[in-house]
Amino acid sequence: MDYKIHISGLAQGKYEYEFPVKGDLFKEFDNQQIMDADILVKVVLEKGSGWMNANVEGQGTATVECDRCLDELKVPVSFSESLAIRSAKLGEEAESSDEFIIVDPSEAEVDLKQFIYDYICVNLPLVTVHPDGECNPEMLAKLDSMQAEEGKGQKDNDIYSPFSGLKDLLGKKGK
Ligand SMILES: [Zn+2]
Repeated sequence: MDYKIHISGLAQGKYEYEFPVKGDLFKEFDNQQIMDADILVKVVLEKGSGWMNANVEGQGTATVECDRCLDELKVPVSFSESLAIRSAKLGEEAESSDEFIIVDPSEAEVDLKQFIYDYICVNLPLVTVHPDGECNPEMLAKLDSMQAEEGKGQKDNDIYSPFSGLKDLLGKKGK
C-alpha cells in the first residue's frame, strides 16, 4: 500500500484521494502500540497558481493495548490537518516539517506516508483504557498475581511504572 499523490502536470483545481489505513502501516514503522487499524484517510489536494495545499482528514479506529488489563482495545481516531506542499525552488526552508512538505520540482509525486502515520499517532487518545467494568477479568487476575509475585523480589525502585515489566512478560507468553 502506498500513500502517494501524483502532482506533476496537475491543472489548478481540487483533487480528492482516499487511503484506507490498516495495521500494516504501523508494522512498517515498527510501532508496537498500534496493533491494528481501520481508518479512512481522505486527502483533498488544492492546487493554485504557484501553491499547493493538502487537507488530510482521517476517521476510524485503532486497536491498542488497554493500559489497565493489557487486552486489545479499539479507540476512535479522528483528525483534520492541513499540509502545504512547496516546491524546493519556491521555499526558503530546506527541510520538510509537520506543516509543510518540500518537494523537489523534478519529482512527479508526493509521498504522504510519514505524515499520515504521524497524524494518526499524535491523535490517539492520551488514556487508553476500557470503560469501567469492561476490562478482561482473566487478564486482570493474571496481572494481579504477577504483580504480587514481582513485588516479592523487587524493591521500590520501579514504583511509578509497576506494569512496565509485566507487559514484556505477558508479551513473551503470547498472552
Ligand atoms: Zn482493559
